[in-house]
Amino acid sequence: MSSAERLGPCPWCGEVPNEDSYALRDGGYKYGGVVCGCGVQGPDVRTDYREWPAWKPAAIAAWNERRAPAEAGAPSGWQPIETAPRDGRPLLLFARSLRAQSPIRLVGWWIYGRGWIEAAFAPNHPTGVEPTHWMPLPEFPKD
Ligand SMILES: [Zn+2]
Repeated sequence: MSSAERLGPCPWCGEVPNEDSYALRDGGYKYGGVVCGCGVQGPDVRTDYREWPAWKPAAIAAWNERRAPAEAGAPSGWQPIETAPRDGRPLLLFARSLRAQSPIRLVGWWIYGRGWIEAAFAPNHPTGVEPTHWMPLPEFPKD
């Protein structure tokens, strides 16, 4: 893995995150990941309690592996949530907010240690959701 690997664009907002924007998680900061300016957090990688430069290449690789949705060969239609990728990529979910009764369609993703969340209007205050189904998101508009 090359330390020169560059961050790809955010699958949520399309911007490229700042190279030194990251977050630590799991209380003891055993895990961390790249964070985009829009609030989306990349997949967690193990930090082993080291400083950012030591686990930065792994975090960037994990971020870049989280491909944009609607890849060729991706499943289409609603899939049972048990089959959903749990790598932090945003997905279309059929889910119920933990504070609501009725499920709706929303964009959410899996965060290690948090479970399924959505954060459409409050990126810094994600809400837990209980999805039953998922499907890949459509691509960004081309123009
Ligand atoms: Zn973003």
